[in-house]
Amino acid sequence: MTAPLIEFRNVSKRFGSLTVLDRITLQIYEAEATTIIGLSGSGKSVLLKHIIGLLKPDEGEILYKGKALSELDKSEMSNYYAQISYMFQGNALFDSMTVYDNIALPLVEKTRLKKKEINRRVMARIEQSELIDAAEKYPSELSGGMQKRVALARALVTDPKIVLFDEPTTGQDPVRKNIILSMIAEYQRKFGFTAIMVSHAIPDVYFISNRILALYDHKIVFQGTPEELEDFEHPFKEEVIHSLEGLKEELTGLYSRRQFKIRYYNELKRKPFQEPYVIAVFSILDLELLSEHFGHETVQVMIRCMGRYIDDHFGSAGGFSNRYGTNEFVTMLPYSDLAEAEEILNNFVEDIQNRGVRDICEMTQEQPSFEDGFTLIVMAGLEQGQQDTTIDAVVNSARNNIREIARLRFGKSEAGNEKISS
Ligand code: ADP
Ligand code: MG
Repeated sequence: MTAPLIEFRNVSKRFGSLTVLDRITLQIYEAEATTIIGLSGSGKSVLLKHIIGLLKPDEGEILYKGKALSELDKSEMSNYYAQISYMFQGNALFDSMTVYDNIALPLVEKTRLKKKEINRRVMARIEQSELIDAAEKYPSELSGGMQKRVALARALVTDPKIVLFDEPTTGQDPVRKNIILSMIAEYQRKFGFTAIMVSHAIPDVYFISNRILALYDHKIVFQGTPEELEDFEHPFKEEVIHSLEGLKEELTGLYSRRQFKIRYYNELKRKPFQEPYVIAVFSILDLELLSEHFGHETVQVMIRCMGRYIDDHFGSAGGFSNRYGTNEFVTMLPYSDLAEAEEILNNFVEDIQNRGVRDICEMTQEQPSFEDGFTLIVMAGLEQGQQDTTIDAVVNSARNNIREIARLRFGKSEAGNEKISS
């Protein structure tokens, strides 16, 4: 196993007679997303503050790449701090500054870079975060989701190696939670930083964490993968399971990603060896553009309809579905081979072409409202898997096979759904 990037060894912290951290030992690994879960008031923020040096332990050591922070000299210490960025609970954007100036701020304040170089770096981030059209706007002119993107871009503009997120989704509705988390996950993959999050909302974090640490009764009681947490016997296991069940309905009425994986592995265990199954990946083309044009809420309602519809249709063929990301549904067809899955998909295409989106949403009892019409382009990709292939590998190749399967015209004129022959 590789050496941890950050390590706590028997760290204790007291405020007066209150022991907040009681001999905490933990490891955080480079380039992973680690989430520390714990109930409110359990000491999560205090723990994060120790990582950024805002608080010092009463006892024990915090190590960075094997070296105790308390033994770093001044220049090593400032080198360490320069690599860390912190995203606070609120976005904490400056209302009187444009998006561009907000993102440039850490470079202006923390570095001595020339204006030209600052401009280059800020523009690069703005492009990567798809904020070009918003660069000269003020935070109040942006949607909540875009503001989060700006806050993320700002947290990342110094190219930090480590980014801390303190309750990034607290106070957001389920749809936004999902968006923020998939954004963090996407950026983490794209830019390769080490993410350390704290959250009291247990199920949220399953989506994007490589490792979970659980803080309970001032101690770390668990460190492991999200799947391992499932098998872990502990007083707060009940709470964990309970909130996971809640999540299922909350997001899309579909399985959470973790539940999906568990069901997936259970299906595989049950299957005779070498018998194939199929993974289907669905998404909608240019979702960002649609969101900008029609508003976030409308598009989210539509996506939820789509997800339920997919789940229904493939459910009748023994499949089960989950929402994998902001704009991605994954369905497992445990009893089908590729040829059969193609057929089921063709039926699905025919079905949605005939119904149109308004009908689809009616069936799921939710209606987006559209001022003017537009065309929704639905994409899908299939891949066949075997018992010894990992889910991530099969999902990835299904993604690589993604193609347009249907164009749904709706809004003012619902006529003219085109069928894409396959
Ligand atoms: P959470 O897990 O909700 O983030 P915190 O880490 O903020 O919890 O707080 C843990 C406990 O430590 C709480 O009881 C809080 O009141 C206490 N605490 C946090 N910071 C301080 C401080 N600077 N002085 C005294 N008590 C504090
Ligand atoms: Mg806190």
